[in-house]
Amino acid sequence: MLQYDLHTHSTSSDGSLSPEQLVQRALEKNIHYLALTDHDGTSGITQAVEAAKGTQLSIIPGVEVSVTWANTTIHIVGLNIDPESSQLNDGLNELRRYRYNRAESIANKLEKVGILGALEGAKQFASDELVGRVHFGHFLIEAGHAKDMRDVFKRFLVKNKPGYVQSEWTSLQQAVEWIVNAGGQAVIAHPTRYKMTSTKRRKLVQQFKDYGGAAIEVSSGWQAPNEVDVMAKLANDFGLLASCGSDFHAVSDWSDLALFRPLPSSVTPVWEAW
Ligand code: AMP
Ligand code: MN
Ligand code: MN
Ligand code: MN
Repeated sequence: MLQYDLHTHSTSSDGSLSPEQLVQRALEKNIHYLALTDHDGTSGITQAVEAAKGTQLSIIPGVEVSVTWANTTIHIVGLNIDPESSQLNDGLNELRRYRYNRAESIANKLEKVGILGALEGAKQFASDELVGRVHFGHFLIEAGHAKDMRDVFKRFLVKNKPGYVQSEWTSLQQAVEWIVNAGGQAVIAHPTRYKMTSTKRRKLVQQFKDYGGAAIEVSSGWQAPNEVDVMAKLANDFGLLASCGSDFHAVSDWSDLALFRPLPSSVTPVWEAW
């Protein structure tokens, strides 16, 4: 059986393996199709494709776009995008510029609780391309303010905690348009992770579909079996395809490539027409 992992990160965004190391790990895990879906950027794809040449592994060029929808941050994955698309790249460049402004605001907020040098600290863990909350997390851990990444996202950088900034990303319609115009399929990432009622989630899925969205991630890392079934029904109710991926960032006891539940047989996989 072919193995697919269609949601992963490298050091080009906030993952801890380089694109080459990610490809090595994917080969060890016997994966056939790996989508590299770094946040708001595509700079790791060339290296991943290069590293996978001559192996059983196909790299699916991807991206995970940050979106604000109804005051909530939503992530939209693009699969099989053309990384050279100028509309997509203009949009992603703008998001990464915004990230640098946000990083300054995060650092200012941390300074108010006596944590100095966070911007420089976070940048030491980031690539030249993109800075995100995980890089602040690495700094906070190294500086002894938090014990691990879980602790970071419990005590810092989230609502009502030091270092929180309400983010303003791109719109859902824009994100889907960039992906579709780059020849890709748009996918709602980890839909069970958003704090919203099921009514609101259905509204999100309906709008996403109206804008040209193709699929939802029915199976993601850290998901309970009943959640997979609920997401499978959601995909089928709206006539959407089903994707799956680990949302891999780093190897740990609970996180690895290919670590998610298989798609139920009731759904149509996003790769059906590939
Ligand atoms: P950003 O896009 O910079 O706001 O950061 C979002 C990223 O933070 C996600 O893609 C995850 O990598 C990470 N993240 C968010 N919440 C958590 C959490 N509770 N535990 C660990 N990592 C998290
Ligand atoms: Mn991330
Ligand atoms: Mn995400
Ligand atoms: Mn992700």
